[in-house]
Amino acid sequence: MKWRDREQSRNVDDRRLSSGRSGGGRGLPSIGTLMFLWPLIKPLLRSKMGLAVVGVGATAYFFMPSIMSGGSSKPANEAKDNEQAAFIKTVMGDTERVWGKIFAQAGERYPSPTLVLYRGSTRSGCGPASAGMGPFYCPSDQKVYVDLSFFNDLKRKHGAGGDFAQAYVLAHEVGHHIQNMEGTLDKVQLAKQRARGGQANQLQVMVELQADCYAGAWANHAQKQFNILEEGDLEEALNAAVSIGDDRLQKQAQGFAIPHTFTHGTSKQRAEWFAKGVKSGMLKDCNTFQ
Ligand SMILES: [Zn+2]
Repeated sequence: MKWRDREQSRNVDDRRLSSGRSGGGRGLPSIGTLMFLWPLIKPLLRSKMGLAVVGVGATAYFFMPSIMSGGSSKPANEAKDNEQAAFIKTVMGDTERVWGKIFAQAGERYPSPTLVLYRGSTRSGCGPASAGMGPFYCPSDQKVYVDLSFFNDLKRKHGAGGDFAQAYVLAHEVGHHIQNMEGTLDKVQLAKQRARGGQANQLQVMVELQADCYAGAWANHAQKQFNILEEGDLEEALNAAVSIGDDRLQKQAQGFAIPHTFTHGTSKQRAEWFAKGVKSGMLKDCNTFQ
């Protein structure tokens, strides 16, 4: 992917040096503050409304099922890590330029999500984040969480290397943000609560495949606007999609696949929906819920 001549995103919270074992230290009130505020907090905790606000369990939207173990808190090569960060921040900028234009054509302003880069572990609006979970989008704080070590795992453990494979991962997570802005995530969340049997998982698969299709649509527009693609780029993304299909991952882990437990879609589905997005570039062609 050609990326060096474009601006990096400014919507980045780079916690790589502050996250990890120490947990970041930012944002959490101290015990002293909590004691001081306790008379205010206590009634909040009692009321149901308060619990909903304080409560946990906001749903995060992952790139793939979390069956990875990896995640080191310190990169082997600092310079390479910074290079990697510069790349992903530029791709983030590309998502802002592409989605910003699409939203503007509809007469709307694009509210960019924030990209949080961290190492090892950090906090998110959807609960604690750790590298082994892989990249995810949290709708409640509208942030995309990425530990860059994931990309090494993607290459080493799943044979999915290449810079455009990484661009696809980020574009998929930004795709979840688009779904959030469209109100799709809320609707699906409600439907999942009413669903029976394997229906909730099926709904989740549709959400994930649509995020893949949106990632493809992003690639389509980014190519038109910035001519970003180099030979082999699309193949890298498609190979990544195939490598992390639910059927493939389950077979690797346990020797067989159990379709009703799928949450992200099969290798074939993921590659097909990404390809469909690339080909069309139109969001209306990404209706996986039909
Ligand atoms: Zn996802």
